Amino acid sequence: MDDESDAAERAGDDVDDIVEVPISAIEHYSYCPRQCALIHVEQTFDENLFTLRGRLAHERVHSGDDQPSRGVRVARGIPVWSDRLGLRGKVDLVEFRPDGPYPVEYKIGPRRGVHADLQLCAQALCLEEMLGEEVPRGAVFSFETRRRHEVVFDDGLRARTLEVVEAIRGLLREQRLPPAPNDSRCRHCSLINTCLPGVVGEPARLRGLQGALFHAREPGRDDE
Ligand code: SF4
Repeated sequence: MDDESDAAERAGDDVDDIVEVPISAIEHYSYCPRQCALIHVEQTFDENLFTLRGRLAHERVHSGDDQPSRGVRVARGIPVWSDRLGLRGKVDLVEFRPDGPYPVEYKIGPRRGVHADLQLCAQALCLEEMLGEEVPRGAVFSFETRRRHEVVFDDGLRARTLEVVEAIRGLLREQRLPPAPNDSRCRHCSLINTCLPGVVGEPARLRGLQGALFHAREPGRDDE
């Protein structure tokens, strides 16, 4: 766990000084740092059909009963945190298996890259600190494919998760909005209408629009 100790040290000697990172920001940052900043720095949120479906699905998971499933005790919608790493969030479901707690994250869409794996790994790091037990594996469930994808929390994934957490902490501390990459990610992004990547991601176009806005002639002063 040396990487985790380093991460806590980088965040500051006094845990009270650590800027807390919401675990949900990890998936956002991994997908697009600008999306993360729009949501967690600028507090932008565009509700649409996709986000609404996601919210309702999570509510359904969290409100299910905690009856043992296939002989395994489960807990739903439980808050988790790590004082050492400056993290806080919620786990959709934890199965308390004989080989350790097993967190499960629910997603509406199909699997796209490792973004959700990083979020799940951060949940596992919190559970380890809270419960004092190793959390070796978990899963991401897709409502669309009705499948679980098992995630092993190996050293590489833990290190990458901590890197992303520190990058987000820097973003939150500096209240910074990164530039728009304006690439294929934007088509699937719920914030495209707020972000306007086609405008802000192209400096020449942005300069042209700024020129049109600030050098427009005032009505009735056509002679200037
Ligand atoms: S629209 Fe594109 S650049 Fe803007 S936040 Fe979404 S993914 Fe990032």
